[in-house]
Amino acid sequence: MTHKSIKIIRTIKELREAVTSWRKEGQTIGLIPTMGALHHGHLSLVKEIKQHTSRTIASIFVNKKQFGPNEDFDLYPRTEEEDIKKLQSAGCDLLYAPSMDEIYPTDFSSTVSVAKLTEGLCAADREHFFDGITTVVTKLLLQALPDAAIFGEKDYQQLAVIKHLVKDLDIPTKIIGAKLIRDKDGLASSSRNRYLSTGERVTAIKLHKILNKIVQKCEEEDSPDLDQILINAKQELLSEGFDDVKYLEIRDAETLETITKIDHPARVITAAVVGKTRLLDNMAIIPHKGLVNKRST
Ligand code: AMP
Repeated sequence: MTHKSIKIIRTIKELREAVTSWRKEGQTIGLIPTMGALHHGHLSLVKEIKQHTSRTIASIFVNKKQFGPNEDFDLYPRTEEEDIKKLQSAGCDLLYAPSMDEIYPTDFSSTVSVAKLTEGLCAADREHFFDGITTVVTKLLLQALPDAAIFGEKDYQQLAVIKHLVKDLDIPTKIIGAKLIRDKDGLASSSRNRYLSTGERVTAIKLHKILNKIVQKCEEEDSPDLDQILINAKQELLSEGFDDVKYLEIRDAETLETITKIDHPARVITAAVVGKTRLLDNMAIIPHKGLVNKRST
């Protein structure tokens, strides 16, 4: 199948012109913000948003503001040519790939910050991480003013934060959450997976297996001891070769508050390190599934 070639733009002016002309035709607009190095997780977002809007814009911008001083900003993979081909085959209409200056001119001095949901988890050891994300996402939403924007559940806390941000600031964009996509071996797909050596990958794939076990215990035991389950799982990760477990927690699936029993939909969420690579993963926990099954048989 041949695809209409994707249009590439790099300035806010061109973005607004494209959106204005689509609006005149009565099209609806969907935005997929990314940092590039695209994989099939990202492409699933393109496919999903096409169910909601008639035109799609993917953005690629490696957002310096969300990287800490000792993180991998300079090394972060930049693969624009391949990304363009992938977006084109996925049927994306437009790529917005602004320069650093376009997004953060030298006199840039504002920050968008969301409280509460940004405490702990991915922010625990990365002070400015979410401010970097909420600032750039606000800018991208105001630049494109899309009808919908899509974010993956792979970054579960980020999705919750962005939904809240858009509600708080009355930004008229519907935020769509897309399910986490995994590679064939079960590892959550990520641009950073390419950092893993073959040996590290063998360790990395244990992450989803251990999360699966946590989910099973929480769903099948009558009164699971969440603290103990997490302590055991953390120990197992370390003995399986993970170099660090940044966090491993069970939170309310919606409010992200810490919980002590599973009486609402919950989420087990983790960031664990193999070698120098930080891996994120999370899974849904459905309350009393085991009990319901046992009673009905
Ligand atoms: P990134 O380029 O890592 O900033 O990701 C851009 C968007 O793609 C974010 O909304 C991510 O949550 C989403 N994403 C990345 N990896 C996956 C995945 N494995 N499954 C679903 N969404 C993903």
